[in-house]
Amino acid sequence: MDLANKYVLAIDQGTTSSRAILFNNSGDVITLAQQPFQQYFPKPGWIEHDPNEIWYTQSSVIKEVMAKADVQDKHIACIGIANQRETTVVWDRETGFPVYNAIVWQDRRTADLCEELKKNGYVDMIRKKTGLVIDAYFSATKIRWILDHVKGVRERADRGELCFGTIDSWLVWKLTRGGKHITDITNASRTMLFNIHTQEWDKELLDLFGVPESMLPEVVGNSEIYCETSSPLFKSGIPVSGMAGDQQAALFGQLCTDEGMIKTTYGTGCFMVQNTGDKPVVSQNNLLTTVAWRIGGKIVYALEGSVFVGGAAIQWLRDGLGLINNAAVTEQMAKSVADNGGVYFVPALTGLGAPYWDQYARGTIIGITRGTTSEHIARAALEGIAYQVNDVFAAMENDLHCKPKEIRVDGGAISNNFLMQFQADISRCPVIRPKVLETTALGAAYLAGLAVGFWKDIDTLKKQWIQEKAFEPELEESRAEQLLAGWHKAVKRSLNWSDN
Ligand code: ADP
Repeated sequence: MDLANKYVLAIDQGTTSSRAILFNNSGDVITLAQQPFQQYFPKPGWIEHDPNEIWYTQSSVIKEVMAKADVQDKHIACIGIANQRETTVVWDRETGFPVYNAIVWQDRRTADLCEELKKNGYVDMIRKKTGLVIDAYFSATKIRWILDHVKGVRERADRGELCFGTIDSWLVWKLTRGGKHITDITNASRTMLFNIHTQEWDKELLDLFGVPESMLPEVVGNSEIYCETSSPLFKSGIPVSGMAGDQQAALFGQLCTDEGMIKTTYGTGCFMVQNTGDKPVVSQNNLLTTVAWRIGGKIVYALEGSVFVGGAAIQWLRDGLGLINNAAVTEQMAKSVADNGGVYFVPALTGLGAPYWDQYARGTIIGITRGTTSEHIARAALEGIAYQVNDVFAAMENDLHCKPKEIRVDGGAISNNFLMQFQADISRCPVIRPKVLETTALGAAYLAGLAVGFWKDIDTLKKQWIQEKAFEPELEESRAEQLLAGWHKAVKRSLNWSDN
């Protein structure tokens, strides 16, 4: 079969569901399958996944897309993987059994350890080497927690019997039946153990966190043939040739391949990532410096800002407050009122991420009067998402001293036209919604397909990227400034609220 008539299988392993998508040579989605899996909350602030369930749901959706499209192994050119980042798995090298559940990126159990590290003066050293701020979000303290708290694990790790990996590593391990223990450089750059300048695991950090080097996967680039599958899931070996953390995959899927290009994903949280070219930019505004990708030995860096609660604020209106039946109605509700009625909603439900990094901030709805209606609250929630994204956008502008030409967007909440328009208005920058919305999976597919010659080069891919709608800034600048002043006043009230 001609290569161009084959498909690329993209594995999109997310925080709440496992997905598999088949793309054709034009970058179109042929079929998609998705399965949610269990979220475990053993204590307040703790979030875990069962690594075996992740694999089980992932293999099941792979089988499902292939069956739906009547596609066999021989029709698949290659496999690309995009995954939830930072989530930490430790497993036995011999048996492949995890020694503990996966500790999810959102898990806050190591917040105290992070505070201690900050107090002990490690902020600058860690930022210089890893590009990250010290936070429970990243993998290092999660590995440390497993080594310290699961019986016998420290000794087994010291004897070289255990493997650590983020979800990309875990999936490749399963796809090769334990044949390969690798991670790609974007996932490595989120562990807080990896030096993004030397592009190696960092001895000083490994010592600081007490992580034996033998646990670590080999670090590989983002678009190269790593291995062939040997899982019984496939009858023959299929090359696995692209891999990246979800946000980096989305940046690539949006074809933000030139310096200065920027994308924002509006899902549970919001993630803004800007391509900064071949130089790592050190943020003066609490953004993260991270690896965008390494292709053919050439590294590209990015600046990133994460907003912890984005679309999750709308979920809370639905599930917590019972104000709405579904997320989509917020668009009509917001449009039905002339403005926010003076109401601001800071969705700091789990603290605030970039650029504030305040784990003790809490959700705040302020400016309520007797005239406030549920429509105002819905509008304030949507605006709150956009304001948070704008704070990250402004921080990037400050760091880089230039404003991007546009913001490309993806994620579940971008179907909300009010939200997109308000983002353009408040950020004074066009917001561009692409035609193919599955940008994370598409990015993984692109990375994999480039490595096997399924696509010739990045220019070929650029021709496939099509805009669906552009939202141009319409609001008067003075009004936007007024609103921003109100927002920042509200943020101040939300900071440092919780005592624990
Ligand atoms: P994730 O990948 O993080 O699970 P998705 O990209 O699937 O998230 O997006 C789902 C999120 O988007 C949910 O938090 C939901 O509340 C929000 N969302 C979905 N549709 C809308 C909408 N029309 N308006 C506002 N928010 C929405």
